[in-house]
Amino acid sequence: MTPVKLLILGGTTEAGALARALVGDDRFAPVLSLAGATRAPVAPPIPWRLGGFGGVAGLAAHLAEQGVALMVDATHPFAARMSAHAVAAAAQAGVPLLVLRRPPWVAVPGDRWQVVAGMAEAAAALGPLPRRVFLTIGQKELAPFQAAPQHDYVIRSVDPPAPATLPPRTRLIAARGPFDAAAEHALLVAEGIEVLVTKNSGGSAVSAKLDAARRLGLPVIMVRRPPAPEAATVATVEAALAWLYGRASARA
Ligand code: NAP
Repeated sequence: MTPVKLLILGGTTEAGALARALVGDDRFAPVLSLAGATRAPVAPPIPWRLGGFGGVAGLAAHLAEQGVALMVDATHPFAARMSAHAVAAAAQAGVPLLVLRRPPWVAVPGDRWQVVAGMAEAAAALGPLPRRVFLTIGQKELAPFQAAPQHDYVIRSVDPPAPATLPPRTRLIAARGPFDAAAEHALLVAEGIEVLVTKNSGGSAVSAKLDAARRLGLPVIMVRRPPAPEAATVATVEAALAWLYGRASARA
């Protein structure tokens, strides 16, 4: 049987796990696509490609040229542009699309969350008085915090941010998750953090900071997700595999 050509749009823990689950499965010929956003991506265990496709038209052309038969969008919940492109290109090329998206975090008793719609709103929500802020929103959307220069920011990201995007009083920490609760607790205490700002990424790899904030009674400014893509969606790698196995056996 000819293996089913599968394109996985990645950049997440789940995409990596899906790729690992497909190693040695000769029903599929998977390729993992990475944006090239991080400088040293973890080497995937399956064939992979790097960089943008050139918008919807570029992705639709790629699907056709490569004979892709199935596509899984396993990008980050905040990678809204790529997800929208995937929906449009899949429709154009007639390729079935599945979105693999981990559920958002939900506040539990003890959490002191303020939910906001974006980075400008998050910066404003820090308020007029100077505070020590733990900013874990990645390195690309820091510029809105320049409008709140009265705060001291501890910024943690995988790659260093562009200096021109930084607010004036910053301390940078380069680190890639997962992080554990004891270390997060120790970091918040050592840095004298008074408030956290995070995207509602979901998942367990970077959720320990929320447990630590709850234990310390610290407020969290939680940036809500952009609207979900309009496509069939599952929350787990297991469910994505079930979808893939079903599609593969329907073709056999
Ligand atoms: P985005 O704003 O939705 O996408 C910007 C452009 O980057 C897309 O239009 C596409 O370029 C290219 N691109 C994005 N993901 C791609 C992929 N998997 N393969 C090939 N090209 C891709 O995305 P983003 O928020 O910058 O995120 C970039 C990558 O980092 C994604 O893979 C995402 O899963 C990962 N990531 C993002 C976040 C986050 O907070 N946004 C956090 C962790 C990981 P073309 O239009 O040229 O095709």
